[in-house]
Amino acid sequence: MTREEAIFEYRRKDDDGEFDKKIISRKPKDVRYDTATLECGHIVDINASMLKLSAFATDKFPCSKCQDAWMIEHGLKSRPHGE
Ligand SMILES: [Zn+2]
Repeated sequence: MTREEAIFEYRRKDDDGEFDKKIISRKPKDVRYDTATLECGHIVDINASMLKLSAFATDKFPCSKCQDAWMIEHGLKSRPHGE
């Protein structure tokens, strides 16, 4: 896959909601953020007020860690230091 193809593939997956993962549990972290465990096993901080927006009026949330993992695997993002 070329870089260009990877970018289009990423966008398609994102549009299709393939990175949207079911929220298994949520607990408040601070006044703005909740710490959520997603079905993929990733633990992410999500902005609690974002979940009130209609776009997120589901029990799913786009997992930034799954997005990053895909981008790293396909050369669209470099691996974070220490990993
Ligand atoms: Zn994930």
